[in-house]
Amino acid sequence: MNLKDHIRNIILEINQETKLISEEVIENTPERIETFYKEFFSGLSINPHIFLKRTFPVLTNDLVLEKDISFYSMCEHHFLPFFGKISLGYIPDGKIVGFGDIIKVIEAFSKRPQLQERLCSEIADCIFQALNCQGVYVVVEAEHTCMTMRGVKALGSKVITTASRGVFNTHPHLKTEFINLIK
Ligand SMILES: [Zn+2]
Repeated sequence: MNLKDHIRNIILEINQETKLISEEVIENTPERIETFYKEFFSGLSINPHIFLKRTFPVLTNDLVLEKDISFYSMCEHHFLPFFGKISLGYIPDGKIVGFGDIIKVIEAFSKRPQLQERLCSEIADCIFQALNCQGVYVVVEAEHTCMTMRGVKALGSKVITTASRGVFNTHPHLKTEFINLIK
């Protein structure tokens, strides 16, 4: 059975008692959801490391920071979206990557069934390993629709997670600098 037939079964199950769902929806929505799922979960078939193969040399190893990068992901516990902003900073060790390539890494990790904590650390580890840089700090701030639409209905609440690697752990002033810059 393909994905859209499974989705149609879910819709038919929901519709069983009241029959309020229209024929058009039963007929066409499964395919729309299938198309969306295939697009949205495309990150599962991408190895994000491929985006960091092309690097550029630098003479000075100063902090590089990209802030307020928008992202959408899907909570793996409820298959409901969570979304927000990511700020990422790293201290190079002789080489940097393109800003756009960092965004591609974030996309590949977020377009999967995810947990915010894991998303945050996977991005940090990927940059840290691929660039072999001195340190990485990632801050993810997100709203979880599984918290705001259902369950505790914590409307407007945000979850912040952080992941730090390398010199950000041994030199706390770097974290302070980072936090001041993303304020
Ligand atoms: Zn959830």
